[in-house]
Amino acid sequence: MNEIPHWLEKQNDLQPTKVAIEYGEHQSISYSELREESRKLAKGLMKKGVKSGDHVAILSGSRIEFPVCVHALSYVGAVIVCLNMRLSPEELAFQLTDADVTWFIVDPEFVEKGHKAMQSTTLNEDHIVTMDRLPKAEDSIYLNDHLCLDDVFTMMYTSGTTGKPKAVMHTYGNHWFSAVASALNLGLSASDKWLVCLPLFHIGGFSILMKNVIYGMPIRMLDRFDAKVINNGIRHHGVTIVSVVTVMLQRLMKDLQENSYPASFRCVLLGGGPVPKPLLHKASEKSIPVFQTYGMTETSSQIVTLSPSEALRKLGSAGKALAPATLKIFVDGRIAKPYETGEIHVKGPMVSSGYYKKGHQEAEYLATGDAGYLDEEGFLYVVDRVKDMIISGGENIYPAEVESVLIGIEGVEEVAVTGMVDDEWGEVPAAFIVKKEGTDISFEKMATYCRDHLAPYKIPKQLFIISQLPRNASNKIVRRKLFQSVEGEQGHGH
Ligand code: ATP
Ligand code: MG
Repeated sequence: MNEIPHWLEKQNDLQPTKVAIEYGEHQSISYSELREESRKLAKGLMKKGVKSGDHVAILSGSRIEFPVCVHALSYVGAVIVCLNMRLSPEELAFQLTDADVTWFIVDPEFVEKGHKAMQSTTLNEDHIVTMDRLPKAEDSIYLNDHLCLDDVFTMMYTSGTTGKPKAVMHTYGNHWFSAVASALNLGLSASDKWLVCLPLFHIGGFSILMKNVIYGMPIRMLDRFDAKVINNGIRHHGVTIVSVVTVMLQRLMKDLQENSYPASFRCVLLGGGPVPKPLLHKASEKSIPVFQTYGMTETSSQIVTLSPSEALRKLGSAGKALAPATLKIFVDGRIAKPYETGEIHVKGPMVSSGYYKKGHQEAEYLATGDAGYLDEEGFLYVVDRVKDMIISGGENIYPAEVESVLIGIEGVEEVAVTGMVDDEWGEVPAAFIVKKEGTDISFEKMATYCRDHLAPYKIPKQLFIISQLPRNASNKIVRRKLFQSVEGEQGHGH
């Protein structure tokens, strides 16, 4: 059996009194306390009837009970189903049913939503546990002291940006290798402290809970994103690493203004979506150590990362595959040449072996659904989603490229591009723009600006001004819903 000692048992053995998690105003919990709390909860849950192999959903914000539940469930050997607290009751009900959930742990803040969701499932009232009344027990009940790397530990739904969310299964081994691969890349120092402001129910935040117990590295957990609080944590509370998405980095930099970070702060891990180049330039001018990274739920977080030493030389690149991972770009079944865009494929011990109930991932490499290319030195540039590619008169157009031009037009607050049917070209790009208040954007203004920056076939042929872009519960723009959001409206065009 491919087993390792339970990671929290190990940390309790190595450094019981060390602070594991800082949270709230000034609270903290040591490794021995985290272990104690998790074990009591594990026993309490087992007395209630939770068994090894059960699917237990967690619907929660970033509160200390979240990691306690995570570790308790690993002591039981149950499978955690992470739910996004921004989902509607109907969406939650779908995931509860789809993932065969039999127990449901809910943050008191979402009790009403949780109950509503439960009503459309076969779950019964006795199987819902609220986090302010977690069952605790101290009986002598056997708890796992080892973890089998091949066992499934978590199930997380993808964001649903390109279709219905899929339940990705992660084994203990996937989480273990993800954490190890990250440390081999970023290094690990005894003084490291990782700040968590990403939601814990997504892989980006969850993976930090794993690093917390796998490395024995303290984390500072925030219940929401607050630029001031984060900058304060970095400047005065010994934070050395923070994981963020683009919009968070923008806000951190705005709040930072003329100030800078202390020399001990060594990494802003930036991922989850495309990053505008001007932001990377600005970060570099301020000597902010940004590591661009690429990953997805299926890869248990980062799988490709660029270090700050290469940040300017390879501006816009997501870097190279981490030590135990490999990356290939395929075009029509063959390996792409440098600079040739194709589908990104990845392989490595952190890559999930499949989606729940969808069978094993058979292929050697996971097809990511993302388009990208490698330069002559093998650095990856993520271009866009393969599914979103527009084919116009035989030419491929990636909406992201058009969007990155449109965002430069004065008065554009947000923008998204998708394809629309066209008699002559098959498909042509259409632009959807959210204007800044008090500005005016006409089709002519847009088209004139584009002529200087884009080949004619890439210039949008219709413009829709809308008040907000359709986004999913992960706040990602859902391009396939753009036309639904303007149904019946006439765009501006030729
Ligand atoms: P779904 O799979 O349901 O359509 P999703 O792919 O948005 O949703 P996630 O797993 O949350 O779900 O997101 C991973 C995706 O985010 C990647 O496949 C990629 O498209 C995008 N992404 C992540 N990092 C980067 C990056 N550095 N640059 C560009 N895109 C990125
Ligand atoms: Mg995806």
